Formats: sequence, structure tokens, C-alpha cells
Amino acid sequence: MAAAPPLRRTDSAQGDFSPLKHFVVAKKKIGDVFQQLLDYVKETSDFVEETCANKALEDLASEDQKLEIQAYADKLAIIKEVLARRHMKVAFFGRTSNGKSTVVNAMLRDRVLPSGIGHTTNCFLSVEGTDEDMAYLKTEGSDEAKSIKTVNQLAHALHMDESLDAGCLVRVFWPKTKCALLRDDLVLVDSPGTDVTTQLDTWIEKFCLDADVFVLVANSESTLMNTEKHFFHKVNERLSKPNIFILNNRWDASANEPEYMEDVRKQHTDRCVNFLVEELKVVDREQAPDRIFFVSAKEVLNSRMQRAQGMPESGGALAEGFQERLKEFQCFERRFEECISQSAVKTKFEQHTIRAKQITENVQSIMDDINIEAAEKRVAALEDREYQIDRLEFVKNQLNLLISDIKTKIKAISEEVETKVSGAMGEEICRLHVIIDEFHSDFHPSPQILKIYKSELLAHVEEGMGKNLASRCSDAVNASVQFSQRYMMESMIPLLPSTAQSQINMLVPSRKFDLCYDLNCATLCSDFQENIEFQFTLGWTALVHRFLGSVNAQKALRLVDQNLQGSRPALPVAMTPSSGPPSIASQANNETALMTQEDLMVAVATNVASLTSRTSMSVIIVGGVVWRTVGWKLIALSTSLYGLLYLYERLTWTTKAKERTLKRQFVDYATEKLQLIVSFTSSSCSHQVQKEMTTTFGRLCQQVEQTQKELEAEIRQLTVKIDQLETVQSHSKSLRHKATDLERQLEMFTSQYLQLPQ
Ligand code: GDP
Repeated sequence: MAAAPPLRRTDSAQGDFSPLKHFVVAKKKIGDVFQQLLDYVKETSDFVEETCANKALEDLASEDQKLEIQAYADKLAIIKEVLARRHMKVAFFGRTSNGKSTVVNAMLRDRVLPSGIGHTTNCFLSVEGTDEDMAYLKTEGSDEAKSIKTVNQLAHALHMDESLDAGCLVRVFWPKTKCALLRDDLVLVDSPGTDVTTQLDTWIEKFCLDADVFVLVANSESTLMNTEKHFFHKVNERLSKPNIFILNNRWDASANEPEYMEDVRKQHTDRCVNFLVEELKVVDREQAPDRIFFVSAKEVLNSRMQRAQGMPESGGALAEGFQERLKEFQCFERRFEECISQSAVKTKFEQHTIRAKQITENVQSIMDDINIEAAEKRVAALEDREYQIDRLEFVKNQLNLLISDIKTKIKAISEEVETKVSGAMGEEICRLHVIIDEFHSDFHPSPQILKIYKSELLAHVEEGMGKNLASRCSDAVNASVQFSQRYMMESMIPLLPSTAQSQINMLVPSRKFDLCYDLNCATLCSDFQENIEFQFTLGWTALVHRFLGSVNAQKALRLVDQNLQGSRPALPVAMTPSSGPPSIASQANNETALMTQEDLMVAVATNVASLTSRTSMSVIIVGGVVWRTVGWKLIALSTSLYGLLYLYERLTWTTKAKERTLKRQFVDYATEKLQLIVSFTSSSCSHQVQKEMTTTFGRLCQQVEQTQKELEAEIRQLTVKIDQLETVQSHSKSLRHKATDLERQLEMFTSQYLQLPQ
């Protein structure tokens, strides 16, 4: 095998620059754009996924959008891979021994493929570049890389490998360091010969559909054969306007008959033009000559190899006209390179660029949708927050107003209740004798029965008064309390959210409000002491009473009693416990203790003096006159009358009379006592009402405060939501701009690489 050729293509008509670079650069560019696009779509996909997952944003981005973008990311990743593997492919067809392998070798400037021995196998041979230092081959269906050192080795390997079927592909990997052409992503495919197969369809299916350029290697020593034409007709059926070049090879042979050369050339050219323009219709008549060349691959290969080895390129016995033929070959190479690179860029990248544009547009429109949705939601959230702030302010102010209003109301209703209860009690106290008269029980003056009688009487008074007070006050108070509670509730309702409004009834007690009067008669009247001893109207005690007045008489009688009984204590008096007002009896007792005999004497003297001073003196004078006239008879009469009266009173002092007396005494006593507790009871009732109302109001206030807290929490939540929506808005906007930038890049790629005239 020949040594590595210099990489500079010094015999190239256009110097070092290869049009194939066009494809290489375009591939890199579109690869870069796709990488950016893939990164962008991945970023967008993450963003949409994040937005989708945020439940607070209420489906700002839909599940469908998320799946759509994920699908785009997958699609782009696949396209990127496909693009990276893209290369330009040229396939050589023609009859066996027309020089296809020689043409490939001439282009590669080295004997890479075996030639001259006829295509001994029916295999397709492709040549592509490798970054490895050594050449190797891979046969179809095997990943094993078989090293090849010389072209003969390759020929031998192909010849010996019995596993190779007709029409299979053997890939030859040739070090890029040895061949500049292979560095530019070019793959050259040599075919077995159109004359050796009947399986044209399979060939086309397998090797031609992705070929960018077809080269028909014809033999200029003969005319185009039908087998060759037939093959290209079939290719033309499958591909739209395939790029076809016709190389009339072995043109060096024409040098032997220079006199016919022009005619032969014209004849060949006409036929080829006719074939391309009329039959295949793949080019215009004007363009056709640019696709037809007369060359000698063998000469070109030889000269290039000699030059590579440092020998003069025309060192051998070269036929006449070599330089022209070499130039024509170079011209072919140039045209071929231009054609294949532009065609490959278009066919290999155009569809993907269009797809990339569509994806970018779609992603951009999703970003637009999210942006608009976020903006709308943000405006709504701002309005909502504004409303909630206003509402909170309203609730706060209104609550303050209501608190002072309802406090006043509670005070008014408490006062009203106090007045009502005290009025009702006053009236009931006046009617106390009715309650007591209604009481009937076994009465007997014996202490035990009397004790039971009195306790039952107390219970009766307690119950009776309680009932009467309730019937006088309770309904009115209850109505008033319920009315006020309803008023409170109705005032509070507008401050509560609609959900809580329906439950507000539960906060106001539905039960009837009952006042508890709690007269506590048993304690209040515990020191009641009846006096049901027989007392003669004109007896000593009665007279003293009449003479000194009842208060002084009691004091006087108690003093006399003390004097008579020495150290005997006064009437046993139960001290009322601190819960009730101090009893009258104990007060009187204390007063008695302080009273001196002198005080009493003063009272007696005062009464005597008053008696003397007023009509008494006249009565005594009249008495003296009467005494003189009537004498002892009158005394006897008076005494008998006195005695009769005493007898009468003694006989009528029955148990019934004693009960009546006790009841009367009790009425007097209880009236006095109950009057003392009127203000206490009424204020206790007022307090009960106040407590009931305050409790209900407290519960309502608590509910409003709860509403305030909920409003505050909602405002905080809305603020967070607004912030998040702002972030989404700005992120979607920046992603949208990125999409615009990528679109611009794709547009630039299109105008730079895909819209050039072919
Ligand atoms: P293939 O079967 O089409 O691949 O043909 P080859 O490349 O194997 O060539 C067949 C024979 O034709 C070889 O002996 C070559 O040396 C010879 N040959 C190829 N090209 C030319 C040419 O341009 N001029 C002459 N005189 N012989 C050539």
C-alpha cells in the first residue's frame, strides 16, 4: 500500500479550499443550534414541570403542555444524534471494468480499493474516514473490525470471505490522516457493476435512497449501455431529480485516434445530454454539460500517486492530452464537491431545520400562553388581594363601632331589667299577704310543729314569689335579651364570610333565657320569731305598748324582763350569716344593749309629760267628778266588764287565731326583709342578663376575630401567589425571548445554507 499522501490537494484547480467544507460547517452549525435548542427545550420542560407541580398556581401550565414539551425534548435529542451521524454520500455505478474503483482511488489519491481484477465479489464497498491510524473493514452483520494493511489484502479478504452475500456492504475505514477528502464527512460507495445483477430494486432500496450524488462511470470506448441506463431510470423513479454525473472514463484511449476525438466526444456528449435531459429530466439542457466529463481515472491516479511519492507526475509514458484530461478530472471533482455539499446540506438538514422551527414556534407559543395566563392570574390575584385588604379594614372598623354600640346596648338592657325586676318585686312585696294567705298546712303552737310549719311557709313564699316574679318579668326580659342577641347577630353577619354566616345561629343560644331570682327566703327570714302568746287587749303589755309606742314598749318590757330574771339572756336570736342583710332582730338587740335605764326613764317621763300636758289632766278632773257622782258602783261595773272582756278574749284565742296572728306577723316581718333585698336581687338579675349578653357577644366577636385572622392569612397567601406569578411571568418571557433568538438562528441557517441556488 502506498505511503500516506500529503494532505494538501495541490493539483486541485481551486487550491486548498474544498467546497465539501460547506457541508462540514453547516453540520457543525446546525449541530450547535440543535444543542442550544435541546438545552432550551429541557430548561422549558423543567420550568413547565415546576409550574405544573405548583398547586398554588392552579393549573397555570397544563399536563398536556408539559407532556408536549417533554416529547419535543426527546424528539430533539434523537434528531441531534441523527444529525451528528449525517455524512455526504456518493455512489458510483457503471458496468464492470469501466473503472469505478479506479475513479474512487483517483479521488482518494491512493489505491484504497482493489481494481483491475474485475469486481470479483458482488459486494458494495464503501470508503469512509476513521480517526484510527490503521485501516480496517467491517462486514455487514458483524461489528468486528478486520485490520487491512494493503489493498491486496483487502482484495484477498473480499475474495476469500464466503460469508459475503451478493449485494451486501463491506465498509472500509480509511485513516483520515491519510486522505483529506475523507475528513470532510464524505462516504464513497463503489458498486459491483450494473451488468452483474438482476436485483436493481434491492440495490436502490439499500444503497441509493440516502445517496446525495450518483456518478455513472461509463466507458468512452463504447456507448452507454441499456443496463446502465435502466439502472438510472429506476433510481429516477424512486428519487426526485437525483444528482447524476457521467464520467466518460478511459478517455486516454482517444489519444490513439486524435482525428476522431472531437467527433467521438460530441457524439458521447449528445447522447449523455439526451439521457440526462430528455430521458431522466434531472437537469436543464444548459446545466447538462456541467455534469458530463471525459476523463482518465487511471492516469489521474497514477500521476497523483507518483507525485505523492515525490516523483514527477508525468514521469511515465503518458498519452497525449494528459493535462487536459487531468484538468477535466479536477473540474469534475470541483463540480462534484460543490454539488454534493450543497445537495447534502439541503437534503440532510432542511427537514430537520423545518422541524426545529416548528418545535421552537410551538414551545414559544406555550411560553406565550403561560405568560398570558400568569399575567391574567396575577391581575386577578392583585384585585382579590385589594378586595381582601379593604374587607379586612372594613371588618376591623366595623367591629370597633359595634363593640361600643353593643356595650351601650348591654348597659341599657341591664338597667332596664334592673328597673323591671325591682318594680315587680315591690309590687309582689305589697301582695305578699295574698301568697301567705294561700298557704295551708297543719298548724299547732307546739315548737316542733311550728318549726315545720314555718319552714313550709318559707318554701311556699319563696316558690310563690319566684313564680309571680317570673310571670311578671321573665317573658319580657327573655324577649328583650333575644331581641338584643338577634340584633348583635345581624350586625355581625356582614362581617363574616358566607360560609360562617350559615353557622352563626349556633353561636347564639337558642334556649330560653331564664332569670334566676334566688330570693333565699329561708336564710333571709331565718330569725323570724312569732309571738302567739295570749295577750289581753287591756293587759299590762298592751297598755305599755299603747302608752309608749311599740318600739319603746318592747325595750321597756325587755328591761323589765331582764330585771326580773337577773342574768337570764334575752330572746335567743340567730345571727344571719353574712350572705343576707343584717336582721332587724339583731339590730334591735344591739340597740337594747346600748340602751340605759335613763334613756327609758326619759321616754316614760316624756310620755307622761305629754299626757299631763295634753288632755290627761282634764280626763282626771272629769274622772274625779264622775267618781264623786257614780262612786263604787261604777268601779264594780268596770271590773266586771274588764273581767268579761278578758274572758271573751281568752276564749276566742284559738289555734286558728294563733295561725292568723303568726301569718300577720310574718307578712310584716317578710315585707320588711324583702324590701331590703329588692335592689340586691334586681341588680343580680341585671348582672345575669349582662353576663348572658356579654357571653354571646364574646362568642360573636371571637368569630369575627377568626374571620380577621383568616382574611390576613388569605392576604399573605395571595401575596406569595402574586410573587410566584411574577416569577413565572418573567421566566416565561425570558424563555420566549430565547425561542425568538433560536428562531433567528434557524432562520439564518436557512438563508445561509438552504436557500442557495443549486
Ligand atoms: P471497475 O470494475 O469498474 O471497478 O473497474 P476497475 O477500476 O477495476 O478497472 C478495470 C480496469 O480498467 C483496470 O485494469 C484499470 O486499470 C483499467 N482502467 C481504469 N480506468 C482506466 C482508464 O482511464 N484508462 C485505461 N486505459 N484503463 C483504465
